Amino acid sequence: MAGVSHIVGAGIAGLSAATALAAKGHKVIVYESSRHAGGRCRSFFEPSVGCRIDNGSHLMLSGNTDVLTFVGRVGSERTLTGPGAAVFPFVDLEERRRWVVDISKGYFPWWIFSPQRRVPKSSPIDYLKTYKLRNAKATDSVGDVLDDGSAFFRSFWEPLTVSILNTPANEAAASLLWDVISQTLCKGADYCRPLVARDSLSQTFVDPALSYLEKNGVMVFYNARLRGIKFLEDRAEKLLFGSQQIELKSGDNVILSVPPKIASGLVPDLKTPSRFHSIVNAHFKLGEMPKKKGLVGVVGGTAHWLFTRNEVVSVTVSGADDLALKSSNHLAEMLWADVTQVLDLFNVSMPANRVIKEKHATFSQTPEQILLRPKAKTQWENVILAGDWTATGLPATIEGALRSGRLAAELLHV
Ligand SMILES: Cc1cc2nc3c(=O)[nH]c(=O)nc-3n(C[C@H](O)[C@H](O)[C@H](O)COP(=O)(O)OP(=O)(O)OC[C@H]3O[C@@H](n4cnc5c(N)ncnc54)[C@H](O)[C@@H]3O)c2cc1C
Repeated sequence: MAGVSHIVGAGIAGLSAATALAAKGHKVIVYESSRHAGGRCRSFFEPSVGCRIDNGSHLMLSGNTDVLTFVGRVGSERTLTGPGAAVFPFVDLEERRRWVVDISKGYFPWWIFSPQRRVPKSSPIDYLKTYKLRNAKATDSVGDVLDDGSAFFRSFWEPLTVSILNTPANEAAASLLWDVISQTLCKGADYCRPLVARDSLSQTFVDPALSYLEKNGVMVFYNARLRGIKFLEDRAEKLLFGSQQIELKSGDNVILSVPPKIASGLVPDLKTPSRFHSIVNAHFKLGEMPKKKGLVGVVGGTAHWLFTRNEVVSVTVSGADDLALKSSNHLAEMLWADVTQVLDLFNVSMPANRVIKEKHATFSQTPEQILLRPKAKTQWENVILAGDWTATGLPATIEGALRSGRLAAELLHV
């Protein structure tokens, strides 16, 4: 008879595993070391801007099947929003021009033949070179495969790669980028419409998942940091939480959905990715909704993406290791300068803001580091791994984290 599934870590990988198991009627208990669930995908009330903000703006795509399955399961599908088409407006602050990447429906890429739907001065050949990624060697970076000195690379591949892999294009693994591009861009607009949380990340992913777990009788314990695991022969025997110990009975199992550094400290001989990149976000509270709103990609500035939600403009910079060393005030000024140009907010002084630096936002998705991603199954029969850093075949994203949780649940109860 199936026993209890102990899920350690209530980030979205843990919530995905817990809800998938609860949906099948399994007995589940969740343990989270902090005071809240959500991990790197969460929201909180920020007094300085007077509203709830996300730790970082998260962009998803309509081809993210695990995202859609998860929000469907927990009943929050209506809180995911985005334009009805696969349109991505861009601004180049250095060259002072704007364009829209507007991907057509279907597998045949009609859009690349229309100058109005692609990057200025690019040609269809530039886009057809995407297929070079398919034959990339395991050791190749995106820059090795595509022409990293070209103007097209700067306006298309560089922003695309750093936002998907949070790693500069001349270091990021070409094979991993291909895994995403082949599932989204190459399949046309229906698979790459941008999606964002309408109100906040927590209202789309975390709060509905916690309500779902509560309705299904799943207990979630906060301030419950797993400090050790006692192993006996080929299985885990006890979970050690400070003064408390949980004995694992026959049929009980553990899904470890904690960050890689924590997992490698808990599981002997576990190799995990060991290098990370930062993401910096700045949230500016405008007095009113700007005329230009929605999602905008930025080239030639400090900012990478602007998201406008209600009266808050949120700026994201990925692969931001050097930037994260600067003071929050300095960053706010640098990023506000970009916002004023992108949104044409001239003569508007910098409003109340909050800068968030996530120093370990994701692991560094280079050819060397992706080889360190472990499979979900471990050498211990009742211990399974989950998290965006495990070998999901996807980048470290919401989609990857949710998939890892679902696969972990499936491994336990096929
Ligand atoms: C700023 C930022 C921007 C991002 N942008 C995007 C984006 O645009 N699109 C996208 O798809 N993805 C994006 N991501 C990535 C996405 O957020 C992550 O891939 C995802 O949240 C990872 O979830 P996880 O559950 O694997 O890990 P985590 O969120 O790290 O969850 C691990 C959980 O384990 C808990 N824990 C740790 N140690 C213990 C312990 N000993 N015992 C018990 N619990 C423990 C932690 O507190 C945490 O809650 C972004 C990430 C950041 C930080």
